[in-house]
Amino acid sequence: MKQHIVILGGGFGGLYTALELEKSLSANSGVEITLVNRDNFFLFTPMLHEVAASDLDPTDIVNPIRKLLRQTQFFVGNVENIDLNAKKVAVSHGEGQHAHE
Ligand SMILES: Cc1cc2nc3c(=O)[nH]c(=O)nc-3n(C[C@H](O)[C@H](O)[C@H](O)COP(=O)(O)OP(=O)(O)OC[C@H]3O[C@@H](n4cnc5c(N)ncnc54)[C@H](O)[C@@H]3O)c2cc1C
Repeated sequence: MKQHIVILGGGFGGLYTALELEKSLSANSGVEITLVNRDNFFLFTPMLHEVAASDLDPTDIVNPIRKLLRQTQFFVGNVENIDLNAKKVAVSHGEGQHAHE
């Protein structure tokens, strides 16, 4: 049976988990990885103060998550519910916040 790893949150923890898994799993390992984040970008918070001080433009500290990942499927949405027993995550996305599982 195919294994599916679902990572919730695309901040430092989530994004780097996905990047490390991509490094350690070969493309044909049969393991599917999905990352869910409410924004389609990664924010480099350690340099946020430089944006506040007008030393940097906001675009200098954000990176599109899709461009950083090679094997991982990326889903932009809000995590609404996590059912660990059933191994299911409910997410909503889009204008109507329609639901997916
Ligand atoms: C201004 C500032 C400067 C900092 N400087 C440093 C530094 O110099 N060195 C250092 O070590 N640390 C620094 N930190 C702390 C560092 O940013 C955090 O420790 C780190 O971001 C925590 O990582 P995380 O993955 O746990 O959470 P986060 O990076 O917050 O990531 C969580 C992600 O999950 C998403 N998310 C949350 N809830 C949902 C939901 N329901 N559905 C979908 N997505 C969701 C969020 O949008 C976010 O993308 C700084 C923080 C700030 C604010």
